[in-house]
Amino acid sequence: MKEFELIQRIFKESSMADIEGRKDILLGIGDDCAQVRIPADQTLVFSMDTLVEGRHFPYDADPYAIGYRAVASCVSDLAAMGAKPAFFTLGLTLPNSDAQWLSAFAEGLAEMAEPIGLLLVGGDTTKGPLTITLQVHGYIEESFIKKRSQAQLDDDIYVTGTLGDAAAAVPVMTGEMIVANELYDYFYERYWRPSPRLIGGMALKRVANAMMDISDGFAQDIQHILSASDVGAFVQGHLIPISEALSKWQPDNALSIALTGGDDYELCFTAPKSMREEIRLITQTLHLPCARVGEIVESGFVIEGYAGDLNGWQHF
Ligand code: ADP
Ligand code: MG
Repeated sequence: MKEFELIQRIFKESSMADIEGRKDILLGIGDDCAQVRIPADQTLVFSMDTLVEGRHFPYDADPYAIGYRAVASCVSDLAAMGAKPAFFTLGLTLPNSDAQWLSAFAEGLAEMAEPIGLLLVGGDTTKGPLTITLQVHGYIEESFIKKRSQAQLDDDIYVTGTLGDAAAAVPVMTGEMIVANELYDYFYERYWRPSPRLIGGMALKRVANAMMDISDGFAQDIQHILSASDVGAFVQGHLIPISEALSKWQPDNALSIALTGGDDYELCFTAPKSMREEIRLITQTLHLPCARVGEIVESGFVIEGYAGDLNGWQHF
């Protein structure tokens, strides 16, 4: 068997590629193209992310963890639009075809993809330094899509979950910081197993104006909403949700890590003040932690109580 035939077989035979029971997927892995029938009254949204070993995840990491995190981080973009996950394609560049590595990687992908109905329908495989590209696709009714450009003056600004936990793990993984502390397990878990807010995004699409996911740090990411909507924001630093673990771990830097650290994969959204009760009910019903952190103003960007840098993760 040729090298890459083996790879295709691992994916084709995985349960995450099984199209049975899916009316929308007419053809999956194995032909020249996949074929999809977009459900009536829905539109297709899609997004691509590339993860490079040594840049977006550490060298020699556990392949299962890499697979899980790849899907989790990519579908966060679907959550940010309010879309329902549908299917994905996988571009894989591998230094060699290690069947054990691949099986574990595929299992990690499947653990995240299968329960959310994200079907693997195709991909491409090449040889080279380990690089993983996912294109994820979702469905959403045309009128419910949540753009960055829809924030309105006087909207409240909300954030889900707690910020900065995944970023707290990075200096330890890179060896910049040494720890002997059980708190680290929590940050490590938050880095490798983010919880994309898919159900939250789908529920909030009815009440939010603008929405996006936070992947490069809240302070930097919210500015995308501000410039796209041509508005400003007044945020109160003490309202930024920070885990107890992070406050204990970095008492002096917790706010700065929460505001500028990457890899949160939480949602940031704006909504009219008249929606407060509705949002409280939705988030309570879904057990979705959600904090109101500020409001949309005419112009400018202030985080009260924070004097540091407003830039997050820079790619280049
Ligand atoms: P072609 O040469 O026609 O582009 P390939 O030989 O690259 O086809 O792939 C054969 C089949 O295997 C296609 O259906 C393709 O989508 C699938 N495939 C190849 N690589 C991957 C991968 N990394 N993940 C999922 N499916 C893959
Ligand atoms: Mg072909």
